[in-house]
Amino acid sequence: MKTSIIGYPRIGNLRELKFASEKYFRDEITVADLEKTAKDIRAYNLNLQVKSGLDFIPSNDFSFYDGVLDTAFLLNVIPERYTALGLSKLDTYFAAARGYQGEKGDVKALAMKKWYNTNYHYMVPEIDDGTEIRLVGTKPFELFSETLDSGVKTKPVIIGAYTFLKLARYKGNKKAVDFIESTAAAYSELLKKFRDLGAEWVQFDEPSLVMDMNTDDIRLFTVLYEKILSNKGSIKVLVQTYFGDVRDCYKELCKLDLDGIGFDFTEGKRSLELVRKNGFPQEKTLFAGVVNGKNIWRNNYASTIITLSELEKFAHDIVINTSCSLLHVPCTLANETKLEERFKKHLAYAEEKLSELAELKRITDAHCPSETEEYRRNSALHSEPRSGGNEAVRKKVADLTEKDFIRLPEFAEREIIQKEKFGLPLFPTTTIGSFPQTADVKAKRSAYRKGEISASDYEFFIEKKIAECIALQEEIGLDVLVHGEFERNDMVEYFGECLEGYLFTEKAWVQSYGTRCVKPPVIWGDISRAKPMTVKWSTYAQSLTEKPMKGMLTGPVTILNWSFPREDITLRESALQIALAIREEVLDLENNGISIIQVDEAALREKLPLRRSDWREDYLDWAIPAFRYVHSGVKPETQIHTHMCYSEFADIIKDIDDMDADVITFEASRSDLTILDVLKENNFRTEVGPGVYDIHSPRVPSKDEIKAAINKMRERINDNKLWINPDCGLKTRGNEETVPSLKNLVNAAKEARNENS
Ligand code: GLN
Ligand code: ZN
Repeated sequence: MKTSIIGYPRIGNLRELKFASEKYFRDEITVADLEKTAKDIRAYNLNLQVKSGLDFIPSNDFSFYDGVLDTAFLLNVIPERYTALGLSKLDTYFAAARGYQGEKGDVKALAMKKWYNTNYHYMVPEIDDGTEIRLVGTKPFELFSETLDSGVKTKPVIIGAYTFLKLARYKGNKKAVDFIESTAAAYSELLKKFRDLGAEWVQFDEPSLVMDMNTDDIRLFTVLYEKILSNKGSIKVLVQTYFGDVRDCYKELCKLDLDGIGFDFTEGKRSLELVRKNGFPQEKTLFAGVVNGKNIWRNNYASTIITLSELEKFAHDIVINTSCSLLHVPCTLANETKLEERFKKHLAYAEEKLSELAELKRITDAHCPSETEEYRRNSALHSEPRSGGNEAVRKKVADLTEKDFIRLPEFAEREIIQKEKFGLPLFPTTTIGSFPQTADVKAKRSAYRKGEISASDYEFFIEKKIAECIALQEEIGLDVLVHGEFERNDMVEYFGECLEGYLFTEKAWVQSYGTRCVKPPVIWGDISRAKPMTVKWSTYAQSLTEKPMKGMLTGPVTILNWSFPREDITLRESALQIALAIREEVLDLENNGISIIQVDEAALREKLPLRRSDWREDYLDWAIPAFRYVHSGVKPETQIHTHMCYSEFADIIKDIDDMDADVITFEASRSDLTILDVLKENNFRTEVGPGVYDIHSPRVPSKDEIKAAINKMRERINDNKLWINPDCGLKTRGNEETVPSLKNLVNAAKEARNENS
């Protein structure tokens, strides 16, 4: 069997592309320097893939910012506001990616959205009635030729026509169907160009085929491809799907004049069943996604071989493939110098996944696969008992019953008790938790981590910051205070480091968007709370003020969703283990006099399944209970807050109310407050603080502007349920804008109160 990958990480082993791009943005290096870094990364990756013996090596998986944006530029889907700036080609591209503010004009970036069920984000192409889709870009051809010059005939990778049209945002009256002709023509021309350049295969990525598809969608897809493939000639076309199964269009897909189809057998729950039931066209190549492109565990060869041999019953020609692009895993284990070998041997990042593919190839080619050295070694690894088990935790999770997820008394009764206890004014004001992480905070943490200052010096510094932060909030006149989260680098990593069961990596960076990378911690064993994590800071903060101090925690679903999860136990089980630990912290805070506790679920939507029919059973049925379990043990008078980053929760609004928090704050300002209608229509019961201003921008909102937002909220939300707060944590902001913004916020709330009395 041959081997293939769908794409490779492009940021570089040590994030070279990120650093070079940021320098370029700051005008510290020239465009030639940036191009050189990019070229070096591509050459390095190419060499690595050649050396590993990979048969299908992708090209055009490189991007300076994002692959969807690249496709938009390839197809002339470039809003005029960017071309009008009169910048170079690359700078126009960066203007669309990041916005532009300078002598040539002032334009915002394109919208950015989550890439399916990953933590990667793509730029949303904008199509209006005047958009003329045609092939104008050259990048895929240049990158193909670049590899050809190195003597390698690669498989160019392009976002497919269907997915591209589905992801675009339509600004005018025209819809995707109105662009079928032009889009198909552009893709046909692209195939012709590749044929002329001597390419053998072209890969079209079509992840949108794993989403729910109605008959119009299926039609759009088939019509597009019938046209694109109608005169493809000798070039071979692979349609590559990932992140799920293609249950809605399997038959249509198989009928097309394609040469290869790629399915995901890792996340595609029904992929194997679809092949079994419908068969697979004999003349086509099946690209079998059996090596997980999203997680960092070593492949289990025994079960992979079972899948492959099952597929062999149906498909004539099989290529061993990754389940999705390796973009979603870190580059190489080689730079993990601190991780012990006993853990490391269980991990595979992108580079190690290349070796896995090579090993699987040797195994499948062997006469007797299970007799091969590679197979034996892998079986031995997977049969080793895994360390990190915690029987007590497992038992607690197993013993949970219905009533553990129910907080009593009911919300309505608690609301009365809490109003009485806290005696807060109408429209109470608060913040989401973090205050500006200024240079001094970052410098001190870094010095502490390097061992340059002692733990007590560091703690003394944090206490000083907390005291300043409280004095500031009292001066501003906020009602419910926070300690400022100065001790945290990141809302998930901080808890990961405090919890038992986590592994920490050094260089395991994964691109989140553009130049931004994240380093998700790894869940290795059963999770438990070894010691209090936040109690010291919160109680210290409370001791400095008469006002209520909000304890700040990250919730179990968010911690899980922003980590690399285990695969030997279910996500549900991991979520409940984390919930157990966070619950202990909640109760500990309560025992220590903290009477308002916020449990952030910023990433609640992150792993919501792509198909609606899977939402409940596969996700919400355990995610919502995990959150409920965190706070079901507190006293009626303890007030539980939660926070979410997106207002995109209209479709799960009931589930969010069902989390049974007492107060929820969320981002609303950027969505023009449309979420307010949804709250009203659904009789949302939880008290709410829809952010009154956008903290993602350095702009200072005026008092009147905030007042106007409050008035708009009051039209939809009962006065007694409305909280006033910014839309997210302030950690990325500076004090210069934070202080005046919060003062305006407090004054706007006061004005609203006075008008009311
Ligand atoms: N409490 C966190 C903070 O204020 C919440 C961050 C978030 O929602 N992403 O920073
Ligand atoms: Zn947020």
